[in-house]
Amino acid sequence: MPLDATHDPQRRSWLASAETEGTDFPVQNLPYGRFRRTGSDEPWRIGVAIGDQILDLRLASASGAWQGVEAERLAPDLQPLAGGDLNAFMARGPAAWQAVREALSEGLTAGSARQAALQPCLVAQADAEMGLPFSVGDYTDFYAGIHHARTVGALFRPDAPLLPNYRWVPIGYHGRASSIGVSPQAVRRPWGQQAPVPAEAGTPRFGPTQRLDYELELGAVIGLPNPLGEPVSIEQAQAHLFGLVLLNDWSARDVQGWEYQPLGPFLSKNFASTVSPWVVTMAALEPFRRPFERAVDDVQPLPYLDGVENRARGALDIQLEVRLQTASMRERGLPAQRLMQSNAQDAYWTLAQLVAHHTVGGCNLAPGDLLGTGTLSGPRPEQGGSLLELTAGGKQRLTLAHGETRAFLEDGDTVELRGRCEQPGARSLGFGPCRGTVLPARER
Ligand code: MN
Repeated sequence: MPLDATHDPQRRSWLASAETEGTDFPVQNLPYGRFRRTGSDEPWRIGVAIGDQILDLRLASASGAWQGVEAERLAPDLQPLAGGDLNAFMARGPAAWQAVREALSEGLTAGSARQAALQPCLVAQADAEMGLPFSVGDYTDFYAGIHHARTVGALFRPDAPLLPNYRWVPIGYHGRASSIGVSPQAVRRPWGQQAPVPAEAGTPRFGPTQRLDYELELGAVIGLPNPLGEPVSIEQAQAHLFGLVLLNDWSARDVQGWEYQPLGPFLSKNFASTVSPWVVTMAALEPFRRPFERAVDDVQPLPYLDGVENRARGALDIQLEVRLQTASMRERGLPAQRLMQSNAQDAYWTLAQLVAHHTVGGCNLAPGDLLGTGTLSGPRPEQGGSLLELTAGGKQRLTLAHGETRAFLEDGDTVELRGRCEQPGARSLGFGPCRGTVLPARER
């Protein structure tokens, strides 16, 4: 996917808020979300974020901004968007995605003749509530962050932190789509079984998790489907990837520790997962691609997980961070505190490798399928993408700036994930926040 005029860092929007320093949503981004006016019972609309506004694509389609041959050409691509169905739009594939991106970018650019038609189609983000941007089909969670895998592995197996398959197989499991929610999400502390104490004997404990954690991940959204039995090659993978969201894979570590062998996580991960409301397209992320290289002394991927394009541009330079605001901080008017920073390009597997691996046995992916990357920790200890890592399994409590401490999450804590791309020669953009707040466990 080459860079084009939609990536031009000089391109400016006629909308002033899209030009403010530090905005996540300049005209080079144009992420898709699903919204309605707060408190209304209007049907959900698909919109594109621009500055502090949303361009309502139902209104924009009917606005007369595009006329004649142009309108005819765009109509089949805009129709699913006008109808509020992002999945149907994603299923149309890269040519449709690009046609709409070019049209919206041009229409929102300063000097566009379409400004007068599009201006009335804006809704303030402050006046909107966001829904899940797409209907999530199947959800798979991978384990592509090697620094996370190594640190967590060392907590459980000090002698063998990385299992021998890690460098060959993009490890993953099939997760639960029904409990995926959108930011800002209220997440109820789950109940579950936890290991008996002492570990060797006795009845397991049953109660609210005492080791509630977050995981900093990206979620890749599948656009173009592949038929059952027809693998997607690593070269074709990009055409199937529509975009990315931030993903908090909430985890109950005590439940996980007791249940995960031999078949992997189950109830410890299926009570809630939170995604950010805006799907940042792969097209928008194009200027932030990076070479993907394995060290020469590392094992090299099998041929089906290797490719020229993947080596040249398979990684993504996305700065990630986690912030925490406790209930007490909120009461005192203190902002969320940053707990860590990492970068998605430190992942051990690329998105194209995840798609190629997922389908290599013939598995069919569908529009709206979500592939979690796994926790994206950095190489240094302070770059852990979960509390499990930052507190060494709960043994070293974190001290927050105002004096509170945390081993794991407490009721009232708000976890916020952030993602941002900054690169010389490109316009900076971001994902908007992904927030979730812990509610107390249900009484029973
Ligand atoms: Mn995870």
